[in-house]
Amino acid sequence: MVKLNDNFFNLKESYLFSTTARKIREYAAANPDKPVIRMGIGDVTIPLAEPVADALAAAGKGMATREGFHGYGDEQGEGFLQEAIRAYYRAETGVELKKNEIFVSDGAKSDVANFTDLFSNDNVIVIPDPVYPVYMDSNMMLGRKITLIDGNEENGFLPMPYEGLKGDIVYLCSPNNPTGAVYDREQLKTWVDFALENGMLIMFDAAYEAFVSDKSLPRSIFEIEGAKKCAVEFCSLSKTAGFTGTRCGYTVVPEDIVIDSRSLNKMWLRRQTTKFNGTSYIVQKGAEAVFTPEGMARCKENVAYYKENARIMAKTLNDLGIWFTGGVNSPYIWLKCGMDSWEFFDMLLNEIQVAGTPGSGFGKCGEGYFRLTAFNTHENTREAMARLTRLLANK
Ligand code: PLP
Repeated sequence: MVKLNDNFFNLKESYLFSTTARKIREYAAANPDKPVIRMGIGDVTIPLAEPVADALAAAGKGMATREGFHGYGDEQGEGFLQEAIRAYYRAETGVELKKNEIFVSDGAKSDVANFTDLFSNDNVIVIPDPVYPVYMDSNMMLGRKITLIDGNEENGFLPMPYEGLKGDIVYLCSPNNPTGAVYDREQLKTWVDFALENGMLIMFDAAYEAFVSDKSLPRSIFEIEGAKKCAVEFCSLSKTAGFTGTRCGYTVVPEDIVIDSRSLNKMWLRRQTTKFNGTSYIVQKGAEAVFTPEGMARCKENVAYYKENARIMAKTLNDLGIWFTGGVNSPYIWLKCGMDSWEFFDMLLNEIQVAGTPGSGFGKCGEGYFRLTAFNTHENTREAMARLTRLLANK
């Protein structure tokens, strides 16, 4: 008889986005004359940069020719894209990587979740709260023991290691989803030193690194001395280049990580060659175009557009005297709403027709907080902030 993985039944149902979507839908149906401004979306809205679309189209067309046709590719990614990613790291962060340390994939979500394959189930997993839910759920599916480390106003939603913290693997996400908070160099150095001293592995999610423009802040954990011995980095073109629907990401597994005299890089290669047949050649040609000077310039313009929205939101909250994190080196703003986060959601929707995301949906420490995103137009963002100002200035 089939035996199911009962760990699935320990997962919390995620009602967050389905509930916010339903509430918005119901409100819109009942109030067709009051359009809702959606500031809750975590998906990009600006179309692909033209050089990227051209490269995708050319590769697609090429597939219908003998010369341009490609069958199975290298599971680790096409060499041209690994080299382009290598050059990107060097130019943007000064980090030198080896080609075989870079694994191209269909996105960071699958890599983050699939990487759990490499570890025994008796590891203790350390996860910040609140955070991107995939870290928690992918480990819960395996029945692993999880220790949460709290984000709060005191630590600026950037939990740090503390004496007595026990764990084998820690997930860090910087810039953070949902809080927009970014670890500085000193804080990451503290994490790296702690990991090295305690035999821990850091799973570093850098999906939003392209939003960091403050040069003093790290965009890659490998900017920190010692990180190549204790950290794996997940990155994505989803937010960097608008690839949420096109799908391409990459994971860096340094050769220097050796656990129990085994190479993690070799294990991940073995895992990928067994369970993954490579990212679409067409998509990899599109991704290559992201890293050309023209493609990169266009992608940076798009990121700058979103960041202007974040700046508008941050200014409004500063003017209103509302405590928040993010909004400067991130597309997310995490504000203290001073009430139950669902109540705040309902208030914004019903009174000013602005939709965001209740913080409690990202973890227990998210209660009392609210996420706004910068993935809208300047016009809508300005209008939403004008409405918020009218509402909250009168409270
Ligand atoms: N990591 C974080 C922190 C995210 O917020 C997201 C998407 O929202 C992802 C990873 C997923 O990235 P991808 O689209 O490459 O799967």
